[in-house]
Amino acid sequence: MRIVVLSDAHSNTEALTAVFRHAEAAGAVDAVWSLGDMVGYGPEPAQAMAMLRERPLTPVAGNHDLAAAAGIGVDEFNSFAAHAALWSGDQLSEAERQWLLELPETRIAGEFTLAHGTLRDPVWEYLLSAEQALVQFELQTTRYSLVGHSHLPLWFEEVPGAMPRLRIAGDGQRVPLGETRLILNPGSVGQPRDGDPRASYLLYDDGAAMATWHRIEYDIASTQAKMRAVHLPQWLSERLSIGK
Ligand code: ZN
Repeated sequence: MRIVVLSDAHSNTEALTAVFRHAEAAGAVDAVWSLGDMVGYGPEPAQAMAMLRERPLTPVAGNHDLAAAAGIGVDEFNSFAAHAALWSGDQLSEAERQWLLELPETRIAGEFTLAHGTLRDPVWEYLLSAEQALVQFELQTTRYSLVGHSHLPLWFEEVPGAMPRLRIAGDGQRVPLGETRLILNPGSVGQPRDGDPRASYLLYDDGAAMATWHRIEYDIASTQAKMRAVHLPQWLSERLSIGK
């Protein structure tokens, strides 16, 4: 099975198109695991949701999904994100908002547990430190867990008796999936924040027992033009060019 693991697509259909074209060009994609924030920030929330839902999708909820669906947590957002979240909700049908609201916060798929943030606080906590990785490993009943939310492609390996170390995953980084317990973050499809503007995703091949990060160029200018056309905040558009 070849499984696309992605997160934080953020209503960016150009980035999603490029990611799926890349993954599907190399062979059939048997499943898509989405770690939340399908919507928010970007210009095409309904279209991005549709692109994901027409595939064999296993999704969990992200904070921007709940904010767009029902205004949940919008008070925690900066003004740009709040504006985009409320605007996104207005673009969705009642049925689409309800579907987002009913997404589970965590779920198990094979040897993986999926969450947007962490297992301690699935929707809101950013998993970035060794201390947080230790807590995650304690709560993790499966061998591996997959998280998003920080928009940073990274992984942690459990080392008995030592603190887990944060490792940043560049394009083409491969991690074998063996006995070692792992936490993996695919990075963000629709709004990368590691200084590389290319869309980021993780391809999991269970036959080869391998996870591989990929960075994919997409038509950023087209996404930005769509954002200008619907008057989304200028900074949200500008940051796509610099991957911040
Ligand atoms: Zn996000």
